[in-house]
Amino acid sequence: MTLQQRKRVVIVGGGITGLAAARYLGQHAAGIAVTLIESDDRLGGKIATQRVDGFVIEGGPDSFLSYKPRGLGLCRELGLESRLHGTSGKVRRTYIMRGRKLHQLPEGLTGLIPSRFGPMLKTPLISLLGKGRMGLEYFIPPRMTDEDESLESFVSRRLGREVYVRMIEPLMSGIYAGDGNQLSLAATFPNLRKAELDYGGLIKSMLAARSKPAPQATSQATKRWPAFLTLESGLAEMVEKIEVELEAVDIRLRTRVTDVRRQSGQWGYQVAIEGEEPMTADAVILATPAFVTAELIDTLDPQAAEALRQIPYVSTATVSVVYPISQVPVPLDAHGYIVPRSEGRPVLACTWTSTKFPHRAPEGFALIRAFIGRAGQEDMLDRTDEELIQLVRDELRGVLGVTAPPQMHFVFRWPMAMPQYTLGHLVRVSTIERCFDRHPGLFFAGGAYRGIGIPDCIASGEKAATQAMTSIQTHTSAEVLTA
Ligand SMILES: Cc1cc2nc3c(=O)[nH]c(=O)nc-3n(C[C@H](O)[C@H](O)[C@H](O)COP(=O)(O)OP(=O)(O)OC[C@H]3O[C@@H](n4cnc5c(N)ncnc54)[C@H](O)[C@@H]3O)c2cc1C
Repeated sequence: MTLQQRKRVVIVGGGITGLAAARYLGQHAAGIAVTLIESDDRLGGKIATQRVDGFVIEGGPDSFLSYKPRGLGLCRELGLESRLHGTSGKVRRTYIMRGRKLHQLPEGLTGLIPSRFGPMLKTPLISLLGKGRMGLEYFIPPRMTDEDESLESFVSRRLGREVYVRMIEPLMSGIYAGDGNQLSLAATFPNLRKAELDYGGLIKSMLAARSKPAPQATSQATKRWPAFLTLESGLAEMVEKIEVELEAVDIRLRTRVTDVRRQSGQWGYQVAIEGEEPMTADAVILATPAFVTAELIDTLDPQAAEALRQIPYVSTATVSVVYPISQVPVPLDAHGYIVPRSEGRPVLACTWTSTKFPHRAPEGFALIRAFIGRAGQEDMLDRTDEELIQLVRDELRGVLGVTAPPQMHFVFRWPMAMPQYTLGHLVRVSTIERCFDRHPGLFFAGGAYRGIGIPDCIASGEKAATQAMTSIQTHTSAEVLTA
């Protein structure tokens, strides 16, 4: 046996981040043993697809952004390209609730920057005064301090409070379930700050973009794909395909890691496992939520653990309901609707799944998914399933006039599931990175740090895998030299 064959990487966490890391190592690190440890009885973490009677129900994420390369890239590598579906091209609109009524979200709000004047001027969501205030944005000079600013402060400062409360807050909430007064602009929407600094403001940046010739489509992602993609039988297809490729990986389900510490007097780490003998590893990738990672390295590096604990999480739930379409008195003519915090309602967004992704429900049925709970409203999760379903029924009765009980319902609870990139987040992540630099062979990855979406998680897992491989190779070369 060569020196290299004896090396081992342990990956903790079998969500998409850990799976991407395991797959990468399986493909690129011949001779290195890989163990993937997952506390749950299944792989996939927050990717949770249920397939029932021709319905595809997503409990967690339901799609990913096509323009971030590693979502689409991984699907292609897994041979899933022909299984990808974009959002329905027939219907593109999304509604926003205002005063309990649904209004169309103005088109062209890409990355939260308005890219078209017309729809913004016409929308009944913003008052005349609010529109006037929005127009003043053109004359507002950029803020010249480097201090982190909240998303709410930035949008209110530039476009006015009304635009924030009625339009941007619910859009942002749909992604982070967060509180815009706490979320860091630099960590969540750096493109907005960049537009301010590069062009002097959002309107100026929009005008500059319009005066440029339309970019030539250079990649498949810009050429063909709608912004949001999903898979025919749900995002779990990705997980299932990866699993098939992990033949050589030692996968341990229902196994909880409790601690990671240095091997005394030797290179590498001891990975403590609940109820089992500890494992030794030459490199460890922690693909667990930040608060779990904090616990695992508390003894090894209390400073890193403290910074990790400062990344807060929000709890949320999704409730999917199925109705025969005849029971829904109004047409489901949009991808769904989002609800501003100011409306004071428990539901933060409602996806009309069977319209957004028609393949997810058999003909003649409506599949609707409600998001419940956001920063500050997390006690929603204390309610029973029956109460959550009733809450969604009340919502749909009020908005769509549906009075019948749903034919099927699916409740998914997500305690401490949505990491919040609050003010100072980027500094916090840099601190964590610096701390980890002190521990060769130890890496962290996942949605809590530099990108919350699935493509970001995949990229982060693959990056950690590359680092783990390099660290082992470097150490092995040093061992050979000193042997
Ligand atoms: C309701 C909801 C909707 C979302 N919608 C979207 C969307 O539409 N598009 C999108 O791109 N993103 C979406 N996201 C975000 C996205 O799902 C996540 O960022 C991503 O799936 C996180 O993957 P991960 O592998 O980093 O973490 P996780 O999926 O959380 O995986 C971490 C794993 O670690 C395991 N673990 C924890 N502790 C231990 C331990 N001590 N020992 C061993 N294993 C442990 C857990 O069981 C889990 O399986 C959504 C998230 C939620 C909650």
